[in-house]
Amino acid sequence: MKYKIGRVPVMKFGMVNAFILQSEMGTILVDTGVPNCEARFAAALAKMGLTLSDVSLIVVTHGHFDHAGNADKLRKLCNAPVLIHEREAKFCAGEEKMKLCPTGWVGRLLYQTGAPQSPFSYFQPEITVQGDDRFDLLPYGIPGYVTPTPGHTPGSISVVLEDGNAFVSDMVASGLGLGGIIPTGVAKRPPFEEQPQQVATELERLLGAGVTQFHLGHGFKLGAHAIERHIKRLKTL
Ligand SMILES: [Zn+2]
Ligand SMILES: [Zn+2]
Repeated sequence: MKYKIGRVPVMKFGMVNAFILQSEMGTILVDTGVPNCEARFAAALAKMGLTLSDVSLIVVTHGHFDHAGNADKLRKLCNAPVLIHEREAKFCAGEEKMKLCPTGWVGRLLYQTGAPQSPFSYFQPEITVQGDDRFDLLPYGIPGYVTPTPGHTPGSISVVLEDGNAFVSDMVASGLGLGGIIPTGVAKRPPFEEQPQQVATELERLLGAGVTQFHLGHGFKLGAHAIERHIKRLKTL
C-alpha cells in the first residue's frame, strides 16, 4: 500500500516533531505537539492537500506535554479518537504528574523551568493499548501497527510501518540541545528518560522487527547503524 509521511514542525529546526501518515484509505497523526500548536498541523496537512477533518486517528506516543499537550484540542478539531497506552492515561487525565529523570543539562534546565510538568488541557483517551498488545493501523488505512516501547516512560508507544519506517518519538533523540538544529546522524538520549536499559531492549526489538528508519520526536531521523551504536552506549550506563 502506498502512503506518504509528513513531518509537522511543532518547533523550528526539528526541535519538536509530530508526523502525518496518509494513504488513499486514511490519515493519522502521530503526536500532537505542545499546547496551541494546531496551526502548524493545519499547515502541514494543507501541504499534503489535507485538512484537519481528514484525520481519522490521533496516536499519542506518551504523556509528556510536548507530545500530548495539544491532543484535546486536535481531537475536537479533527473529530477523531485519541489512542494512547493505558499506562499513560492517568498522566493525560491530569491525575498524576509524570516522573522526570533528566539525562543531562538540557533536561535539568527544562526541569527547572517547570515547563515539562505545566498543566495542559487534560483528556481521557477514546482508545487505549493494553499491556504488550499491538494495535493494527490497517483499518485506518496505514500499513503498520502501534507497539508498546516502554522505557522513556512506562507507557511509551511507537508506530511501526511494514516498509521499515518507525515513529519512535522520545526513545531516542538526535541533534543539538533539545534535538534538531543540525542533523548529526548521531543518536542521543532525550532530555528525560526513566529506564535506559529498557529503551535499549525495545530498540533491539524494533531492529529485529526490521525497522531501518527511526523518525524522532526531537531531532532528525536516524538509520539502523546510529541506533545500534546508541544501544551499546545505553547498555554501559
Ligand atoms: Zn518525552
Ligand atoms: Zn519530548
